Amino acid sequence: MSNCIFCQIILGKSPSHMLYQDERVSAFRDIHPVAPTHVLVVPNQHIASVNDLAREDEALVGYLFTVAHQVARQEGIDGTGYRLIINTGPHSGQVVFHLHLHLIGGQRMRFPMG
Ligand code: AMP
Repeated sequence: MSNCIFCQIILGKSPSHMLYQDERVSAFRDIHPVAPTHVLVVPNQHIASVNDLAREDEALVGYLFTVAHQVARQEGIDGTGYRLIINTGPHSGQVVFHLHLHLIGGQRMRFPMG
């Protein structure tokens, strides 16, 4: 989608710090990191949110987690741990309506959330 910032990044038309990309998924650094590692893992296909997932996207969603793990390993935080967050809709604070998984780590995080 031409008006979607993540679609523009995936196509290389907007700048990003890309850490991983293949034909299905891209992973790039968040521009406003909340922790030493803050990476967004996104499907290359435009899907607005979890609310818009279809049954045929189930394998793709699983693959997002596989890539998140791979990037966590690349970043050296798989052993210390990390948090994966998917915001969905206004109450969650979702601001970019292209499905994305926040991979956050590199420091101990507070809990509970919300
Ligand atoms: P969410 O609130 O879950 O929709 O999170 C959207 C995230 O995208 C925020 O953490 C933003 O900092 C991040 N973001 C927005 N624009 C860009 C961009 N051009 N490059 C990298 N991250 C971005």
